[in-house]
Parts: sequence; C-alpha cells; structure tokens
Amino acid sequence: MSRPLIADIDLDALRHNYRLAAGLAPGSLSVAVLKADAYGHGAVACARALSGEAPMFAVAAIEEAVALREAGIEEPIVLLEGIFSADELAQVEALGLGMAIHSDWQLEAALARRPARPIPVWLKVDSGMHRLGFPPERAEAAWRALEAAPECVCDLHLMSHFATADSTDAGYFQRQRECIVALAERLDAPTCLANSPSILAQPSAHGAINRPGVMLYGADPLEVANSASQQLAPVMSLRSEIIAVRELSAGEPVGYGGRFVTSRPSRIGVVACGYGDGYDRHAVDGTPVLVDGKRTHVAGKVSMDMMTVDLSELPEAGIGSEVVLWGRSRHGGVLSVDEVARFCDTISYTLLTGVLPRVPRRYN
Ligand code: PLP
Repeated sequence: MSRPLIADIDLDALRHNYRLAAGLAPGSLSVAVLKADAYGHGAVACARALSGEAPMFAVAAIEEAVALREAGIEEPIVLLEGIFSADELAQVEALGLGMAIHSDWQLEAALARRPARPIPVWLKVDSGMHRLGFPPERAEAAWRALEAAPECVCDLHLMSHFATADSTDAGYFQRQRECIVALAERLDAPTCLANSPSILAQPSAHGAINRPGVMLYGADPLEVANSASQQLAPVMSLRSEIIAVRELSAGEPVGYGGRFVTSRPSRIGVVACGYGDGYDRHAVDGTPVLVDGKRTHVAGKVSMDMMTVDLSELPEAGIGSEVVLWGRSRHGGVLSVDEVARFCDTISYTLLTGVLPRVPRRYN
C-alpha cells in the first residue's frame, strides 16, 4: 500500500459553488478563476468540470492558459495580469486568449499589433488596491485609445480589484466602488469587478463580469461569514491516516523542540502528512483535525512527512484511522479550511494553493 495521503476533489461541490456565485450575481457573467492550478485543485480537471457552466476562465500567466488549451479546453480564457513581455502577444493571439492591460507598455504593444482577430481586453484601473492598473485620471485616455482601435482589441471592459471586500468595515470598499463606477459611467464602459468576497457580500459591485476564485473551492473569504458564504461546500478534502501510535506518560515532550508536552497519560497518533506535502508548519498545538470524523488536534510541531495529533480522548482510534486535515470525513463531519487557516495564522488561499504535487489528487 502506498503512503496514505490524498487530496480528494469533489467536482460536484465545485459546480455547486459556481452556481452559488452565478446565482448571487444575476445579470453579471461569472468568470471562473483557475489560476495557481485552480487554487491547488487541478486547473484542467476543474475547467472540464465547469465546462458548460462557466462561460469563461481566468488565469494569471500564459503558461496556465497553454496547459488548459493543450488539455482541449476551448472556452475563452483571460490573462488577469495580461502579458509579461510583448513577445507573448503572438501566443495570446494563437491561443485565442483575452487579457488585462494594466500598464502603458502593454497598451502600446497591443495597439502596435494587427492580429488576425482582435483581442478581448479588460483595462485594469487602480481604484485603490495600489497594485496593478492605470490611475483613474489616466484611465480615460487609455480607454479612448483602445476604443479607437477595434482592429486590435474588442470586448472592452473596465476592470478593477477590491482590496477590502472581505471586511465588515465597508468604508474603503465603498471608496473604491465609487471611483470605478463613476469612471465607468463617464466612459459608458461595462465593468469587470467582483472577486469572491464582493460576490458574497457586496451586491452593488458585481459589474457586468465578476471573477470568483476562492469561493469556487468552498472557502469563505469573509471576515464574518454570512448566509451566502455558509452555503459554500468544501471541494478539497486532505485525507491521511494514523500510521503509528505512541503511548506516553504525563510530562513527555512530542516532536521537534518538544513544543507539546503531555499534561496527562496520552495517546499520540502519527499522521502521514507534513510540511513537505504543503501542510502549514505554523499550525499551533490545538489546530483541529478530524480522526474518524471526530475532532481532535495537532500536538507537536509539524515535521516534513509527518505530524502528531492527540488521540487521548479517542480510545477507538488507532493505526489506519482516517485523518482529515481539512474537508469532509467519510465518517461524517466537516472541518473547514478557513478554521485550520486561523490556527496557522494564515488564510485558506495559502493552504489550498500550498498542497504540493507529491499529494495525489483524486477526483470524484
Ligand atoms: N480577480 C483578480 C484580479 C485576482 O487577482 C483574484 C485573486 O487573487 C481574483 C479575481 C479572485 O479572487 P478571490 O479568490 O478572492 O475570489
């Protein structure tokens, strides 16, 4: 038997989450974000599963689009950060991709080329994220230049990205929203706006196109869950087993550095999953896991290939017991990746994208 660690990917849950996003944003087109290998879930499998549901996909880099095209994915694909060098335009054209344009050099490159078919373009405006995009006062000229070149570009949208849509304090979000909406009204331009938190919590800012990412994978990006985010279904279940059990008396340290010390006679289970698989080494003692569907917790520092959990309250658990690091147990019970992330002082995005290639993905 091979090492018992697998990431089970529930493609029905993926479709459920996509439909939830699409239903929350009626009148807006939901473009499924499949970058970073679909947040660790496998971009090709997710694209195939969403084919016929999502009208368009988005990725970060041309290599990701190439992989989808090579796998036979024919839906429109947009590059969220556009090209990284002018050379990539030939590939954009050959693969029939769309792209964001966030910089002068990208604009010049796009307008300098006469493609066989015009390239769909989202003009990215910096409404307050201060990462990529044209400052609002310079976006108008860029938009007019694009509008004047229908032989080069088509399907123009004004794109912007929200920095704080997950927060319960909507102040900065509203400032960004007002900025991009005012610009869009002035230019009579369709917009491409919402990410997962704004789809879930900010119906006033979906735009003509929205871009759900993490919510497709069942993670809740909101600071405080709402009735919509509570309907998300986990897509990835990271599943392992107990491979050894240590019976220890009180006062015994466990694992590197002896961080966890037994406070009573204890049973410690060794799990075949570690940071070499992408499980976060910052998981503190007390980080929840499910053993045969029952909650217990990490006890001791995570090692490269193993981690240790407290089985003292689970006398029936032993070698071969299922351990769910996040996701759904076969015995019932769900452990959300968002909860695990809080114990690791991080966010679900990093846990999901961090699952390394040596963990096999199994699709339902
Ligand atoms: N749009 C852009 C431009 C992004 O960079 C991202 C992800 O970071 C998304 C949409 C999807 O965001 P989320 O995963 O929060 O839905």
